[in-house]
Amino acid sequence: MVDEFSTNTNLLAFNKEHIDRDMDELVRVYASHGIRNLDLNFCEMMRPSSRLNDKRAEDYIKTLGEIKEELGLNYVQAHAPYPVRGTKPSDWDGKIIKALNYAYELGCPHIVVHPTGKDIEENIRYYERFIKESDIIIAIENMESPEEISEAEEINEIIKSNPKRLKALLDTGHAHMRALDIKKEILTYGENLVGLHIHDNDGKSDQHLFPLMGTINWKDVIEGLSEIGYKGYFTYETMYYSREKSIKDEDDVIDKAIDSFHHLF
Ligand SMILES: [Zn+2]
Repeated sequence: MVDEFSTNTNLLAFNKEHIDRDMDELVRVYASHGIRNLDLNFCEMMRPSSRLNDKRAEDYIKTLGEIKEELGLNYVQAHAPYPVRGTKPSDWDGKIIKALNYAYELGCPHIVVHPTGKDIEENIRYYERFIKESDIIIAIENMESPEEISEAEEINEIIKSNPKRLKALLDTGHAHMRALDIKKEILTYGENLVGLHIHDNDGKSDQHLFPLMGTINWKDVIEGLSEIGYKGYFTYETMYYSREKSIKDEDDVIDKAIDSFHHLF
């Protein structure tokens, strides 16, 4: 089991000043705290003003590649943008495909793409188009609502349609929102599991807090991962913790995140 801390670049994405933070700024902040393993947050494309949405995108990606080399970073996974509720999923295909190709170019071993709705066959068709348009492994994330794909058995079913290119990512907070037995879910995923979104909540709302701040049984999570011989990273997706914090408190946010990680084992 790789017990190294990793975080989505969105760990400091929100702040009470409502100032947007881009990935090329944030990866340097994380690296200054010794964090080497990062999940690139291409959900940034969902913000219309993002440089990823205009002709600056190519330079932005190049810069992320240069910083990776300069600081010896490891881009362990990436997160694709996803259709906002109430919009047509296919309207987002262009952005998602761009994110897949950027992630591949930057050396990410896989990228997380949310499923759409609840129907297995529809999801198989949905992922086919992304498989065709890119070379990267796609990790399917379990969602938090009953109207969405949320269980390991469903995700394993989708993966069967192309087990080489499709894998699974377990989001601990989402599984807890659905009151699932997370250890059992992990055992059901087995070898399909290539990544994690680690965060905690009270089981009622998707709070994206640090582990041990909510009611997830983390001992069970660690046991499950160790039983399946999980070799991926422990990637934090705890972006809401910093929402009420000021940018000047960012060092404290990072220290608290790392500290909570050490209490997990
Ligand atoms: Zn997630």
